[in-house]
Amino acid sequence: MSALRQAFPRVPGVWQSARSRQSWAPVRRFSSSPVAQANWGFVGLGQMGYPMARNLRAKIPATDSITIYDINESATSQFVEEASSTGPGAGVTIAKSLQDVSRASDTVITMLPQPKHVQAVYKEFIEGGLDKTNPRLFIDCSTIDVKTSLEVGSSIRALGHDFVDAPVSGGVVGATAATLTFMLGASDSALVKAQPILEKMGRRVIHMGEPGTGIVGKLANNYLLAMNNVATAEAMNFGIKLGLDAKKLASLINCSTGKCWPSEVNNPVPDVIESAPSSRGYQGGFGVSLMAKDLKLAIAAADLAGAKLILAEPARKLYEDAEVHDDCKGKDFSVVYKYLQLTGK
Ligand code: NAD
Repeated sequence: MSALRQAFPRVPGVWQSARSRQSWAPVRRFSSSPVAQANWGFVGLGQMGYPMARNLRAKIPATDSITIYDINESATSQFVEEASSTGPGAGVTIAKSLQDVSRASDTVITMLPQPKHVQAVYKEFIEGGLDKTNPRLFIDCSTIDVKTSLEVGSSIRALGHDFVDAPVSGGVVGATAATLTFMLGASDSALVKAQPILEKMGRRVIHMGEPGTGIVGKLANNYLLAMNNVATAEAMNFGIKLGLDAKKLASLINCSTGKCWPSEVNNPVPDVIESAPSSRGYQGGFGVSLMAKDLKLAIAAADLAGAKLILAEPARKLYEDAEVHDDCKGKDFSVVYKYLQLTGK
């Protein structure tokens, strides 16, 4: 029995064999066929979802249609405006409700902030009535907890549709350039459907295994990122306090064994890396509150597995303190370096 099955033995419907599930009708209305029309749905046009939906639209046939929904109406109207100014392409419709999205689409992609949003959105899809004769594929790209993802997937599968977890790495830059890495948790049959779709929005699709494993992979990666970011901020902080030049210290680290993404690409010290958020007042990038959320999700996942995370608690407190500090809230997660300065540490 897999470790995930052992950790979540009672999520109904998740572990039934592929054979016992209703099989996919071969009506690929979302295949690469240039003839058949496919209907796409996209929910959550935020920092990540907006450019992902833009890339999806750019790569699907102009005969397809895409139905979008976001509680932030300015995001959906901006998308329609942009689509109409970029010439011909798949038609875009703003849905009046979430139920309109799921009813109108063969494939629905969701990119939402937190577990509670994913739960609420899929509850609406289900309450809208999902016609069993038209099996749909739901792809959730949000970073959420394993249990919520398994439960939502299970209730979708119980209705004869498919659901995969496909969280991403690569940030807004990757979402814009369609270079994201997708970490996919999917049955083999859903993998075949999901992979070519994800490749329209990213460069790599890594099939981690059965449902839920994409989320586990994402949380493990972001745990490491959270730690590397704090460690880089601390190392830079004490080196600078002892008289080292910030750029020289970063150069040393980046050709030595301490090198990591926060030291090399997203250095938390302003003006060390020109393109890093720290050099533009920590604007843009990956929000400190999203990192605080991901770290909490990683701690919960590790707890379930009985895996000890020695570094997690002090880092969690640091991110949560920075998240509510007036000079740090809403900023890139590398702002923990500034928080150390502001609090005299
Ligand atoms: P965001 O807050 O910018 O966007 C989320 C969007 O969802 C918003 O437009 C919001 O209005 C919409 N939304 C919220 N509730 C909704 C609902 N009930 N119905 C419809 N729309 C709703 O967040 P983001 O930065 O795009 O991140 C989305 C997910 O991707 C998060 O889980 C995040 O952890 C993950 N992620 C983000 C990054 C990043 O760099 N921002 C990188 C990797 C993964």
